[in-house]
Amino acid sequence: MNNASVTLGRRFEGQVALITGGGRGIGQEVAARLAAEGARLAIFDMNVAGAEETCVRVKKAGGEAMAYGVDVTSRDAVAAAVKSVVTDFGRIDVLINNAGIGWRIPFLEITDADWSKIIGTNLTGYFIVAQEVARSMVTSKKGRIVNVASINAHIGTDHQAAYAASKGGIVALTRVMAFELAPLGIYVNAISPGPIETELSAMNLSPATRRSREERIPQGRLGQPGELAAAIAFLASPDASYINGTVLVVDGGLISGGIREPK
Ligand code: NDP
Repeated sequence: MNNASVTLGRRFEGQVALITGGGRGIGQEVAARLAAEGARLAIFDMNVAGAEETCVRVKKAGGEAMAYGVDVTSRDAVAAAVKSVVTDFGRIDVLINNAGIGWRIPFLEITDADWSKIIGTNLTGYFIVAQEVARSMVTSKKGRIVNVASINAHIGTDHQAAYAASKGGIVALTRVMAFELAPLGIYVNAISPGPIETELSAMNLSPATRRSREERIPQGRLGQPGELAAAIAFLASPDASYINGTVLVVDGGLISGGIREPK
C-alpha cells in the first residue's frame, strides 16, 4: 500500500526540491520519495524540530536535505528563506506547496480569526511561497510547482467552510499560475487528496466519521501518505512533461461516487 514493492527511478537526479510543511505527514513522505529519486531537498516548516527530523530520515537513506524554520504566512521570512535556499543549493527546480492547517467548525460559528488563520496559511501562504520561488525559477527558465489542495475544493462537506474555500482558492490559483507561467518554462499543477492517514486527519476524524468515510470510499480505506507522495512525485517529475494546470484527485474514488443503492 505504501508502494514498498515499487522499484524507484531517479527522476529528480541533480534537482533541488523545496517542500513546505515537510516536517511531518504528507510533506515528510514527499521528502522521502523525492530524495529517494535523487532530489536534494530544502524543507520549510514552522515546526523546525519536525523539519530537522525529516532531514535526518532523508540523510539516513543517503540523501541530502536542509531544514529551514519558516512561517509560510510571513512574506519577509519566506523571501529570506528562499534566498538562503538559492545560496545553499544554487537554484530551485521543484516546489511542493503543502503546509496547511484546518479544523472543523460549524459555518455559523466560524470567527473572523478562524477564517483569517486558515485562509492566511492555506491560500495566502501558498501564494507567497509560490511567488517567491517562481521569481527564482524564472532565472533558470524551468520549474515545476505542485500545490496540494484537497477534495474539499470539489465537494461540499459540513463544518469545513474556511478550509474548503482555501482549497478551492488553491485550485483557481493553480490554473492562473499555470496559464501565466508556462511561457516562462514553469509548469504548475494541483493535487487533491482524499482522506490520508496523518496527524491532521487523525485530529479531524472521530472513529464514527472515519468509519463512514471508509464506507463511502470505493477502495474501502483511507490513503497512505506514501501513496500520495507517489502521485505528487509524478506531477513534479519529467514524466508529467505535458501536464500543466490540471488537478489530480487522489481519493480512492471517493468523489466519483454518488448514492449507493441498498443491495
Ligand atoms: P500535517 O498537519 O500532518 O503537517 C502539516 C505541516 O505543516 C506541519 O509540520 C505544520 O507544522 C506545518 N505548518 C502548518 N502551518 C505552517 C506555516 N504557517 N508555516 C510553515 N509550516 C506550517 O498535515 P498533512 O500532512 O495531513 O497535510 C499536508 C497538506 O495536505 C495540507 O495542505 C492539507 O490541507 C492537505 N491535505 C491533507 C489531507 C489529509 O487527509 N491528511 C487530505 C487533503 C489535503 P506544525 O507541526 O507546527 O503544525
